[in-house]
Amino acid sequence: MNFDVGDKKQSEVENKSRFLSLSKQLSDQKLWDLTKEKAQQERNLALEVIDLLREVRSRRLHLKRGYSSFHQYCVQELKYDDGEAHRKIKTLELTTQVPETIKSLEEGSLTLTTASQIQNFFETQSKNNKSYSKIEKLELVSKLENQSKRQIEKTLATIAPEVIQATEKLRYVSETNLKLELIIDEKLYKKLERLRELTSHKNKSFKDVIESLVDEAISKKDPLLKQTKNYGSKSSSLEKSSLQEKAFPEKLDGLKKTANSKSQESEIKETGELEETQSPRSKQIQSEKSRYILVSIKNQVWVKANSQCTYIDPITKNRCSSKNYLQIEHIKPFSQGGLTELSNLTLLCTNHNRLAAIETFGKEKMEKYLKIPLSN
Ligand SMILES: [Zn+2]
Repeated sequence: MNFDVGDKKQSEVENKSRFLSLSKQLSDQKLWDLTKEKAQQERNLALEVIDLLREVRSRRLHLKRGYSSFHQYCVQELKYDDGEAHRKIKTLELTTQVPETIKSLEEGSLTLTTASQIQNFFETQSKNNKSYSKIEKLELVSKLENQSKRQIEKTLATIAPEVIQATEKLRYVSETNLKLELIIDEKLYKKLERLRELTSHKNKSFKDVIESLVDEAISKKDPLLKQTKNYGSKSSSLEKSSLQEKAFPEKLDGLKKTANSKSQESEIKETGELEETQSPRSKQIQSEKSRYILVSIKNQVWVKANSQCTYIDPITKNRCSSKNYLQIEHIKPFSQGGLTELSNLTLLCTNHNRLAAIETFGKEKMEKYLKIPLSN
């Protein structure tokens, strides 16, 4: 709404006074009944919204409109805060898997908070290889109806204490510092302690150990770093080789055959066992006809995409902002004659990669190859 501050204030006052005068005029009985009626309408409306959300997700409309995830769509497009989006999505899951819970939500014996709490529990248990049948889920839900969040927490902790403890907490404690709380098992603790001992000359605390591990992993994994000169103050051999690759990419592709990094080795193998004696151009031509991508080209695709999913909604022109789970894909599929060359390669997040695959090959064919259902 675009109106100046004066108008806004005026309209807020009018709105407020309208509601105030409405509630003030009611008799005690009417106030009692109307409040209850509106709370019921509120529950019904939430269920209507969840039903619409289910259909949006099933049509993958959020992906088509350029959102990288359903959660992101709920927050940015629907203006829910993270907690509300989370509760809506988890309740959507629970009501999809156990439709009987819709009635409990309608009656208020389950709330969005408790429903999402229960769904979280089922999902975490499933990750720990403890799956519940629909009947078992229904039995547990019935037991937890009309209980408070705290009571449910206690009941679920009795069934599986590790599930409740698994929650990670992250919050700001100053402008630039965050506090991360997570539960680790003794095995991991001992490994961290051992690594701290082995690297005690530079790592004094667990924070130092984690930071050096993260730096090392990023310097190995981030393709953008392989193209840039300055990353931090350290100059590792990996960064040096990245710089060389930028200057002499074809030469390095050959040299990397002898590199001791496993991932580099496998990538080179994937390019089709090229002969060392071949010229760079003949390698390039041969690789275009192979599904596999030369390391130097992979890095160029990442740079071209700026390490971000390249999906753009043709209607809103909204580009997916995902920097997670990115994969290099052929724009024209390899199976349909698309070449493995820079101009036919792009970077997509898992969800947009799936969307592209469904649009090319059809849902039925795709579903056979996926472990995770397409509805996610
Ligand atoms: Zn994406």
